[in-house]
Amino acid sequence: MQDLRFMTNNNIPLTIKETQEGLKAKKFLAVELVDAYLERIKKFNPEYNIFLTITEEEAYKKARELDKVGLYDKPLSGVTASYKDIFLTKNIRTTAASKILDNYIPAYSATSVKKIEDAGAIPLGKLNCDAFAHGASGENSDYGSTKNPWNKEFVPGGSSSGSAAALAAGMSLVSLGSDTGGSTRQPANFCNLVGLKPTRGVISRYGVIAMSSSIDTVGTFTHTVDDMEIMFDVLKGEDGFDGIVKNFEKPQIKEEFKLGIAKEFFKEGLDREVEEMIEGVRKTFESINIEIVDISLPHTKYAVPIYYIIQPAEVSSNLGRFDGIRYGNNRDRFGSEAKRRIMLGSYVLSSGYYDAYFDKAQRVRTKLIEDFNLAFEKVDAILSPVSPTPPFKLGENTNDPLKMYLEDVYTASINLVGVPSLALPTMFSEGGLPIGFQLIGPNFSEHNLFELGRRYHQEINYKPKIAL
Ligand code: GLN
Repeated sequence: MQDLRFMTNNNIPLTIKETQEGLKAKKFLAVELVDAYLERIKKFNPEYNIFLTITEEEAYKKARELDKVGLYDKPLSGVTASYKDIFLTKNIRTTAASKILDNYIPAYSATSVKKIEDAGAIPLGKLNCDAFAHGASGENSDYGSTKNPWNKEFVPGGSSSGSAAALAAGMSLVSLGSDTGGSTRQPANFCNLVGLKPTRGVISRYGVIAMSSSIDTVGTFTHTVDDMEIMFDVLKGEDGFDGIVKNFEKPQIKEEFKLGIAKEFFKEGLDREVEEMIEGVRKTFESINIEIVDISLPHTKYAVPIYYIIQPAEVSSNLGRFDGIRYGNNRDRFGSEAKRRIMLGSYVLSSGYYDAYFDKAQRVRTKLIEDFNLAFEKVDAILSPVSPTPPFKLGENTNDPLKMYLEDVYTASINLVGVPSLALPTMFSEGGLPIGFQLIGPNFSEHNLFELGRRYHQEINYKPKIAL
């Protein structure tokens, strides 16, 4: 047997297929996989602050069960998985990276966690994030910032900071995050990963600590598009607990695609390197006979302003349950970002301001939905940046909440509209940090986005890599 503990960098299996082929060929046991991953977690976690809780006992228990049967025949058999700490995990501490839930032990698991583990995955632990998923850098965690494994002076993105960093550091093969305004796609881009924000109403939110209920989605991180498709097929579908979730059949995959580029996305504030990257991606798509069409999304300039009205409004309502009675710790343990959002949200909902802010924002949201509907009459998907800049330095934006909010300029509209978007890794910046893009599709077009992403990665001969 191969001794996985001595595997370094590229020898860590980076795909589900590689993992399962190794297990089935008895190259290594699931227990040995756990040894190898835990060794890496213990080695790198003190420096990078990625895991808040390591579930060593649960990991070995699951691995032993898998090895005993020896078939590894489920979609995620032997796949190491870890979860953003806003996913409830039965009998395992779940903090939302907030001190207010410092000692909260849930009585049940989120549907996504259950589905992944029923499909054979090995749970490694709970991941750091911005507290209550408020943020775009991971720096709002009450347990300290996560560092980007590609360069520890930089942020890994957020709010699902640990979910992205865990994969980039080779500490887990797949992970769960959430995406309310970009929190899966942006960290996926910052850490050289594939990230999915699914159609609203396809993956159950049951057991995910709510941020903004009309825009929250469960996000997924993998190294490859193929793995994302496997995860998506495991996660999607009704569970009887989330009323907006409907089952849907895999659509017919298109042969020919038309891709749209919105002129509104190329305005001031977009970093030169990101703009050049999009230009390169456009040329690659053209070279594989994918037609590029200019489109217009005139209301996207309002996306950040309306997102920062609707989202805090819903945050203020959702965080109302942490009143010191139900979950133990007192309200004074809320961090400053949660407080800022509760105040903003209460203000825009208050009598006298409701019509001027909340109601108006909802009206503009309808306009935004109409923009995207019109665009999808012309094109099958939209090519867009995810973040206006490459990863930024830790501390660079922390004193300027407005600047941090502008991180969401290319992502928040997608959540407000509800459509799916696939973030794809493609290259590294001059500073040596990952940059990538997203493909946005109409509702329920995930499988077509996977097809497009796969064709792109095949064309550039993309190979997944880890940083450590
Ligand atoms: N950056 C956005 C925010 O701070 C997105 C957060 C998210 O998607 N959870 O609200």
